[in-house]
Amino acid sequence: MKQASWLRYSPSADSVYCGYCYLFGVQAFRTSDWSNISKFVDRHVGENASHHTAVARGQAFIDVHRGAPDIRQQLQNQRVQAIEENRAILKSITEVVVTMARQNISLRGHVPEESNFNSLMALVAQHNSTLRHHLKMQGAMRSTQVQRYRMNF
Ligand SMILES: [Zn+2]
Repeated sequence: MKQASWLRYSPSADSVYCGYCYLFGVQAFRTSDWSNISKFVDRHVGENASHHTAVARGQAFIDVHRGAPDIRQQLQNQRVQAIEENRAILKSITEVVVTMARQNISLRGHVPEESNFNSLMALVAQHNSTLRHHLKMQGAMRSTQVQRYRMNF
């Protein structure tokens, strides 16, 4: 029998049970058949998917109890970070458009890839890593969309 850290002994019932399944599982594992304990334990771990779910739930509970950030807090932090990045990107784009309007520079160029707007955005992106990443992702998305469009014909 392998080491089973999840196995608990109950002196009052003189039986063993799975601590994770008892607390976090759907179906509790308990036995007092000492002659076949190894077989019961192997079967509980091997075939029972709900045991692994209960272990994962228990470990998550322990992690949160020990101070690991809550998943809701992590999602909220990612959401707030995405909002801040989007605002920074929008601010950069707005500043370029307003500057071009004040200088009476047209947004368009001879071809869309070499437009005045795209050229200035590329210039600003050289000094702004958030904008540079955004433009890079947009370019990758655009090329994927173009490839899909071409594949449809
Ligand atoms: Zn279990």
